[in-house]
Amino acid sequence: MDLGHSGQSQRRKKTLSRKYSGTVEMPDAVAEEIVNYALEELMICKVLAELYRVELRYPPPSYAYNVRVCETKKVLERLGWWSEGRKGHIRKTLEVRLQSAAYCLIALFTGMRAHEVLRIKYGLRNNWSEEYVEIDGGVKKMCFVLSETTKLEARPASYKWQAVPVVKLALMALEIGFKRYYDTGNPWLFPSRKDGVFGGKQALTKNALGHNIKTFCKIHDIRSKGIVWNLATHQFRKKFARTMVRQGLGIKALQDQLKHYDIEMTKIYGDPNLYVELQAEKFELSAELLEEFVGSQIPVIGGGAEELNAMRREFLGLTKKDRTLFLQSLPSKALVEQTDDGLCFYRANKALCGGDKSNCRPGDCNNAWMPAAGKKRTLLWRKTENDRMMGFFKSQPLKVHFLKSRNEEIQKLLGQLEKLGACE
Ligand code: SF4
Repeated sequence: MDLGHSGQSQRRKKTLSRKYSGTVEMPDAVAEEIVNYALEELMICKVLAELYRVELRYPPPSYAYNVRVCETKKVLERLGWWSEGRKGHIRKTLEVRLQSAAYCLIALFTGMRAHEVLRIKYGLRNNWSEEYVEIDGGVKKMCFVLSETTKLEARPASYKWQAVPVVKLALMALEIGFKRYYDTGNPWLFPSRKDGVFGGKQALTKNALGHNIKTFCKIHDIRSKGIVWNLATHQFRKKFARTMVRQGLGIKALQDQLKHYDIEMTKIYGDPNLYVELQAEKFELSAELLEEFVGSQIPVIGGGAEELNAMRREFLGLTKKDRTLFLQSLPSKALVEQTDDGLCFYRANKALCGGDKSNCRPGDCNNAWMPAAGKKRTLLWRKTENDRMMGFFKSQPLKVHFLKSRNEEIQKLLGQLEKLGACE
């Protein structure tokens, strides 16, 4: 009886959904190592392309087996991949390594599920899009991976996932490395080496991918606490979600990126405890900063200075009791975060940086506030530096254009300072 019962609970345990069983969280150090090795391994695409060229040049049966082997060896030696021990399956090994590296980068930087990554079609025109989105008077380039998901509708449906440019490198590497499969009619970016059970060209299976990425960690000896990290496909999604929550991405935006039907599931991915803790911390800090800025007359500049001044006027017109309520209501409109230059009253629809603070443009962005005191010198110095760089990069129009736009922005801030009476 007992045995039967334990067998049953074992089976039940196996079938528990991920919601209850949980996915191990990949430590930051492991994620960093994976990214570094994966970026290096993208170079394998060049070796695979060369091997394909040899096969096209010396196709069987018109060329003797020995001629092809000899040419292949030359290519591998030239590119530093030849080794007596692994000559038998070298192409297969390289393909597995390239697929694993590309998967790690795509999954980690988009949060896509394994099946969504495996449904990416071959060719940048089918799997990548760059769109210029107008945000609050500025234009920002956004990148997306195009694929399908089976999680939101009964049938596989096309969707897009916002991505960072490094994902494009992974897509391009696969396109170069797996051209041989595309040329034989396989439409998938992660092609399977075998044809399907009923014929037809298939994508790599989830099982094969899972096995390959475990090997990836073994090959590169990626360890945590002395043990080789047991990598699984779903860990990337969880890591992505946690990182995004820490960076301050809202739960609705995360739900959209993760393609969750139910927002409750998104909260689990972002870790409800972590999410609640971080939000509470931010809320507290924001309340303090808002009180300091809205409740005072410190001169400010920045794209959002006018809005802040309007808030101040409203605040001054209120009774003491209403002032408290007014201040308490502000953090629920937007939280305040520190940027390099000042403060960001972050509202996603007004964010010129698209949420990436390293692209902050405080002169243009309506979320930006900067205490005016002491800014003039810094701004003038930056302007001079940009002028100097423009001279240096004069043959590179894109860089010159970027620096010019930064100077135009600085000029706006200097203009605001002038109106305020040039606080030093
Ligand atoms: S970080 Fe800068 S550019 Fe981005 S929303 Fe905040 S103030 Fe605007």
